[in-house]
Amino acid sequence: MSKHKKDFRTDTLCIHAGQEPDKEFGSVVAPIYQTSTFAFETAEQGAARFAGKEPGYIYTRLGNPTTKMLEDNIAALEEGVLALATSTGMAAVSTLYFALLGQGDHVVASSAMYGPSRIILERDFVRFGVSATFVDTGDTGAVKAAWRPNTKLLYVETPTNPTLSITDLGACSEWAHKNGALLVVDNTFMSPILQKPLRHGADIVLHSVTKFINGHSDVVGGIIVFKDEPLFKKVRPVLTHLGGTMDPHQAWLVLRGTKTLALRVRAAQENARAVAELLASHPAVEWVKYPGLEKEPAIKALIEKQMDGPGSLISFELKGGIEAGKRFLDGTSLMTLAVSLGGIETLIQHPASMTHAGMSRENRLAAGISDGLVRLSVGCEDKEDLLKEMKEGLNKLV
Ligand SMILES: *Cc1c(COP(=O)(O)O)cnc(C)c1O
Repeated sequence: MSKHKKDFRTDTLCIHAGQEPDKEFGSVVAPIYQTSTFAFETAEQGAARFAGKEPGYIYTRLGNPTTKMLEDNIAALEEGVLALATSTGMAAVSTLYFALLGQGDHVVASSAMYGPSRIILERDFVRFGVSATFVDTGDTGAVKAAWRPNTKLLYVETPTNPTLSITDLGACSEWAHKNGALLVVDNTFMSPILQKPLRHGADIVLHSVTKFINGHSDVVGGIIVFKDEPLFKKVRPVLTHLGGTMDPHQAWLVLRGTKTLALRVRAAQENARAVAELLASHPAVEWVKYPGLEKEPAIKALIEKQMDGPGSLISFELKGGIEAGKRFLDGTSLMTLAVSLGGIETLIQHPASMTHAGMSRENRLAAGISDGLVRLSVGCEDKEDLLKEMKEGLNKLV
């Protein structure tokens, strides 16, 4: 029985998609095919594999059975047809830019997108004649206003990091397709448990699997999922030639993470709801942004339409701005002061001096990242322990 079936539900797919007990010895867990190269039985077979006339592996940069299991697993979770695992999330992003863009092409992208995803467009791809306009893609009107006749790619993160602006994927895909462009969505923040962008018209979805998908803060990696085979065939040779493919041991570790993905995402979300409510009601807090606290009816309706929950990332600013923020950060003990997100442990960081320090202050403020903004990636610790530490830290500030 193939486990890669659309009729299983998400939680089942996390555990089983892409994986069968091993045919040789019945090992229930995926074997790690830790090899760089694969032997051919005959010269003819080698030639047939190179010619693409016979399935089978050749060389690990071009494909590996353990890595393939992870690719099939995430393709099933995202409801795509095929996937490509990459050495890091940024290898997924840069490979996509290389594969989809050429001289003279223009990109419209979310202004508060992941720092390096924006920086390589502004500093590197610009050298090859690619231009980009960054807008709050949560405003579909701004996307349309930024559009040019040579726009080939609409690149969206929703919710954005750390401003948590929500983009209407259905409206964006309709607009992009009507105007001859592709919609690529970085779904790292939501994971396929809470959002499946291909359902809403995206052509390609990517993840930093470093975050929720692996979930244990011990691996870096990325993945690209395709809605159809022609797009996969366009990107695959670019990835295998540029060389950002995933290593089989890395893939095996990530497969341990995917089994508990749904459980972790929901546990962290339950904690995050409670933490967000505490922040929203505390006098030391200037404002808090969390999709679960959204009051604006149109955004609330959009969240209900395209997200299966508000997730576990919260942004907030303390009264007293950056100075109060630093005191709060330095006073935490259960929450770890570190960048990254989506792991089982709660992480807290200050984007203006950390993840988004590479952006100019002007661009940062324009993207909605104020100097005092603090970002929290809520983990799976006991809820009462988290709330206790939060309360104690906040009470010291008033
Ligand atoms: C972390 C992250 C990336 C980059 O992934 P790496 O695995 O660090 O290379 C890309 N997009 C988003 C939204 C991220 O959070």
